[in-house]
Amino acid sequence: MYKKMLDKIAHSEKIIRDAVKNYRRIAVACSFGKDSMATVLLAREVHPEIPVFSIMTIFKPKETFEYLVRMNKRLNLNVTVYMVARDVPPVLSGNGINVKLLPAWRFEKESAEVETVYGKKIYEVAPDRCCELLKVEPAKEAVKDLDAWVCGLRNTEGRTRKDYKEIEFRGLVKVNPILNWTEEEVRGYLEAKGVELHPWYNRVFPDGRLIRSIGCEPCTSPVYDWQEEREGRWKGTSKCGGECGIHTRRLK
Ligand code: SF4
Repeated sequence: MYKKMLDKIAHSEKIIRDAVKNYRRIAVACSFGKDSMATVLLAREVHPEIPVFSIMTIFKPKETFEYLVRMNKRLNLNVTVYMVARDVPPVLSGNGINVKLLPAWRFEKESAEVETVYGKKIYEVAPDRCCELLKVEPAKEAVKDLDAWVCGLRNTEGRTRKDYKEIEFRGLVKVNPILNWTEEEVRGYLEAKGVELHPWYNRVFPDGRLIRSIGCEPCTSPVYDWQEEREGRWKGTSKCGGECGIHTRRLK
């Protein structure tokens, strides 16, 4: 088992090393979930200066912002955050995080219209549109000057991730170095590296369910261990267990 894991790490690092060699303008995307953290650590082993960027939204849990600040400091990530918002969240501005704010007027307008018509939040009624405005559009901005980006996708996370490849060519090259890692391997790797998990992974609900995939707060719920990790995402909507669009839409 130990040898198998070392082989996987070596394979992942080779994928990143080749990508860094082939694509001059390359960066790592980090949501500050467990898979992103493992990917960032691997990428930094290969290329200590590789840029790191993150797409945050006004709906991310406060613990995500706090964890971002902690990890940025501890691992010296120099992360750039892209975010649709009027103001930089105090937890970020107070800790010197580089935040690129993107205009919020369109999100605010559409969000208000949905609430007026349906009496519900946009993420309840139109989560695809909410993700489009708060995640996909900022992701386009983040990658517009890149040739390639490195992501923490894994085939076993959920039904929508089974067919990804380690390298994908769709205008922008996407590099998925931990594609064949399991959930346990990701956790084991972070533990071996002495990197704490986002605190939401440690929450145990009374019925035994756990948070195993973290996104925005309203769209994240716990799942049982026999379920797939992403089944807790967008629960109760047509998008349940799906994708925000960053990995399914063409970004450039
Ligand atoms: S995950 Fe939910 S709250 Fe976040 S952008 Fe998507 S729909 Fe909106």
